[in-house]
Amino acid sequence: MIGTIDRTYECQRCGVAYIWTIGEQLAAGGVQPLPRLCPACAHLLPPVGRERGLVKWYNARRGYGFISRPQGEELFFHRSALPADAGPIGPDLLVEYGIEHTEKGPQAAEVKVLPA
Ligand SMILES: [Zn+2]
Repeated sequence: MIGTIDRTYECQRCGVAYIWTIGEQLAAGGVQPLPRLCPACAHLLPPVGRERGLVKWYNARRGYGFISRPQGEELFFHRSALPADAGPIGPDLLVEYGIEHTEKGPQAAEVKVLPA
């Protein structure tokens, strides 16, 4: 519900109190995304359903590679998951991605290169 006043929440990640302004409430349609995060944490964390990892290696000629996930597993990704305007892809590049479950196992989808 859209309030008529700014609302105060406690960040569910770092515990800091922050204000969710009327303007932000209107922009979000009155629905505070969960988990409720302060602007700093919201900026640092990937959106719901996506995660961030580092490119382990990528073979441009073969068109695929692997991402090191936060828990250490490796995740396959194919050239088709990269944006058309992606620059050179190489080790230690920070990327954000969704996870798609295929017959061959999980793979990264909609891979986005993040600024270092
Ligand atoms: Zn926070």
